[in-house]
Formats: sequence, C-alpha cells, structure tokens
Amino acid sequence: MDNVTRIVERCQQLFDDLEFTAVQEWKAKDPARKAIGYMPVYVPRELVHAAGYLPVGILGGGDAMEVIQGDAYYQSYICRIPRSTLELGLTGKLDCLDGMLFPSICDVIRNLSGMWQILFPGKYVKYFDVPQNYVDEIGGSFYIHEMQALRDDLGKMRGKPITDEEINDSIAVYNDNRAAVRELYAYRARMPWQAPTSEVYLLLRAGMVLPPEEHTALVREYLVETDKVQRPRRDNARIVLTGSFCEQPPLALIKSIEMSGCYVVDDDFMLVTRWLLDDVPADANPLDELSKAFLHRSASTAAKYDATREEKGIFLVKQVKSRGAEGVVFAAPSFCDPALLERPMLQDVLAQRKIPYTAFKYAENTGQMAPIREQAGTFADSIKLWSDAA
Ligand code: SF4
Repeated sequence: MDNVTRIVERCQQLFDDLEFTAVQEWKAKDPARKAIGYMPVYVPRELVHAAGYLPVGILGGGDAMEVIQGDAYYQSYICRIPRSTLELGLTGKLDCLDGMLFPSICDVIRNLSGMWQILFPGKYVKYFDVPQNYVDEIGGSFYIHEMQALRDDLGKMRGKPITDEEINDSIAVYNDNRAAVRELYAYRARMPWQAPTSEVYLLLRAGMVLPPEEHTALVREYLVETDKVQRPRRDNARIVLTGSFCEQPPLALIKSIEMSGCYVVDDDFMLVTRWLLDDVPADANPLDELSKAFLHRSASTAAKYDATREEKGIFLVKQVKSRGAEGVVFAAPSFCDPALLERPMLQDVLAQRKIPYTAFKYAENTGQMAPIREQAGTFADSIKLWSDAA
C-alpha cells in the first residue's frame, strides 16, 4: 500500500467510526483527560486545548446512521444534522464527550443546545455566542466576555484556572494547524488532480477527532506523499463549492461532483479550520487577539453575519479569483436558513460579474447521486464550452 493510500484509509476509518474510538483512546491514556464536542461552525478551540482537553468536531451522523429517536424531537421540515446528532447522543455514541459547545449559527443549533441540557444533565453544555457587531469596543467586548466565561467553566472543570500562557501556547498550535490547512488548500488549487477533494475532505474530517498537533503532521505528510505520485490531469472545470459549512454532504456526493468533471479548488467545509485567515499573535493578551482575529480577519461566508450589504459576496468573488475558479456550485443542506437565505444575494453578485453558477440542495443521507452528477456535469460542460468568466 502506498503512503497516500495509507493516509487516506486512516482518515476514512476515522470518518466512518461513529463510536469515536480515537477520542476514547486519547482519553484512556490519562484519567484527567476530557473531550469537549463542538457543533459546526466556529468555536475558539484554543481554549479547550489550553485546558488540556481534546476539542472534537461533531458533524452529525452522516449517511451511515439510521435516525429513529432523533426524529421524535424535531419537525420534519428542518435539516437533518440536529436529528442525527441527537441520535448519536441518545444511542450513547457521544458518551466519550464530557461537554458540548453549540456555536451560534442558527435557531436549530440554539434549540439543540437547550435539548442537550435537558437530555444530558450530567454533561457540560454551552451555547457559545459570537458577535454580530465588528467594533472592538462593542462586539469585541461581548466576544471576550463569552470567551472568558468558557475559559472559566473549563478552568473549574479541571480544577485550576487556564493561564494566558497556556492559551498562547494553544494559539501557536492552532496557528500551525491553520498554516498546514492553508498549504493544503493552496496545493489543491494549484494541482487539484494531485489532491482530490474527496481526500482533502477526509483529511479535514480527521482534524475533527485528532489532537491538532497530530492532525497538522498528518496534513503535511499527505502533501509530501501525494506530491510524489503523479496522477492523471483532466480538463475539468475549476469550481468553488459553497454552502456546505454545517450539515455535511455525503462523501459519495463530493466524489460525484468530482467525477462529473469538476475540480473543487475552494470550499467551505469545516470552516473552523480556516475561519481565522492568518496567524493570531501568540505573545499578547490571548482573548484580545482571538477577538481581533474573529472581528477583522475571518472568513466572510454565509456562515457569518455580515454587517454591510455592500460586502456581501465579495469574499466568494475573491475565492473565485484567487483560486482561478471558473464557476461556483452552491451546495447547501435542505432547509438550511443561513445558506439558503444568503444564496440569492450571492448569486446576484456572481451574475453581475458574469461568474457562472449552479445550485442544488442535499441532506447528509442523500442517496440519489445521479441527478447531482448530471447537473454538475452539465455545468462543467457549459463552462468549458461557453463561459467567458475570467
Ligand atoms: S444545516 Fe443550516 S439550518 Fe441546519 S443546523 Fe446547520 S446551519 Fe442550522
């Protein structure tokens, strides 16, 4: 087995494992260790890491999990991730987690945090709010207060406060992880045939359950190993995939898009790994610096409240231009308000700039790939035949 296959197979095993064995094994090495889960989209994982705990990304049950109990808690006309996440919890698969963070992204996740408190009274649960005002003295103060509350809670849990030095050390660890993921994304944009998105996706998913230091090393090892293997280059259309920041598409759907003739050269999967766009200073007041990075140097996708309408879509256009993309595929979960409400505005911005796009919806357990493959294939063909996008 070559090294790329070995790395990808390991990531696939982590992806398939709904028992979170890697988390259980990490905890088993030291009884003081705890694992804190977080839902999509963004939480400052640095604070959890600084406590000596493992942040664990929970992205629903995927297409391998049958949802039975979880359906009883929600109406049918919402997305699937809250139901499959409840199913994970109610069937004991998340017992290895000592707490859960529910970041502010939509009402569904907020309601899920309340349900979690009722259903799992022995566990730490926090609805983690983020600012919608980007002035340091207003939104920044609020956000620092939120982070301080989380820091205090985690400090109480481990029996001693988390120091600035510990957080700064963790900021440095995550700076390195973000740098590795940026290298991965830049490499894929340059040579998407060498780093297929189905593999890049699995690598990112591995980062949801592995300690960040281990994940960083794995990403860099993949980059070295995949570069050694020359893979066939196809005349595919280069596209940005957007809208998939919370409930995840099935892996087969990502593969179908690639097989239809598209190279994904940017996306918004697991934005927690790329939410902060550059290094956070690791030698100053850590909460101040995390706040400034969030307010002023973070990804402006549909997952983030945009204060000014003029800015809407500019980040997406920059993704298209900087990655040399020829079009955009809007792929959002059914009933996902944040993604679907933003979509028409983003489409307007693209239309004004003559950037082609297509759009569809999915659920994490979507099984019918043929229509999506046909749609993405037709889109790729139309780009290759008729597009005048730069
Ligand atoms: S998929 Fe969309 S609507 Fe559903 S929980 Fe996530 S952000 Fe909210």
